[in-house]
Amino acid sequence: MNQRLTAVIIEDEKNISSFIESILASEGYRTFAAFTGTEGLSLITSRCPDIILLDLGLPDMDGIKIIEKVRQFTHTPIIVISARTREEEKVSALDQGADDYITKPFGASELMARIRTALRHSHRDSTLSPVYSCGGLVIDFEKRLVTLDGQVIHLTQIEYKLVSLLARQAGKVLTYDYLMQQIWGPYSDSNNQILRVNMAHIRRKMEKNPAEPEYIFTEIGVGYRMREE
Ligand code: CA
Repeated sequence: MNQRLTAVIIEDEKNISSFIESILASEGYRTFAAFTGTEGLSLITSRCPDIILLDLGLPDMDGIKIIEKVRQFTHTPIIVISARTREEEKVSALDQGADDYITKPFGASELMARIRTALRHSHRDSTLSPVYSCGGLVIDFEKRLVTLDGQVIHLTQIEYKLVSLLARQAGKVLTYDYLMQQIWGPYSDSNNQILRVNMAHIRRKMEKNPAEPEYIFTEIGVGYRMREE
């Protein structure tokens, strides 16, 4: 039986597209490449891929628009591949429903790591693990108990909500807006100060050296990402 994973790559720069194709092919993927947004959308509907790799700057369509369209009919993980380092674009891609982003230039191992994380998340939703465990940090979601090297860490209600949100989606960047909305609701202030303050408290409790966190990483200008189990 052929159980190969399928990837659709939407990227107008041919050398980058074939670079990605060769990486994926060497990992056993079936790949389909599109050089425009229109072609890409039709490949996604006809091939039902397991993963979508999407460049934001396409000749006929903004990549963000593609994410919006794709999310109307499928949860297939989307990893944005972009030369642009502008943070607003990463943020809007994630907020539109992209799972992750990778900035050019990137290497094969980084790309594959991102893909594996995105695929794990897409399969995990239905079988939520009751425990997050990574290094010395253990979060028991049923008991709402957080321990570090066996010692209980006392978190406030909000701090616990933040940590468990990030841990439930470990490996994935959660944007400041997303976190604000999840915790403080849709009418929360767009100012992230309260989020930063809570994160500083969490790090003081959870990280050996809050300046060089081991568990919750800052993606500058975008959000936070929790270390994967
Ligand atoms: Ca491009």
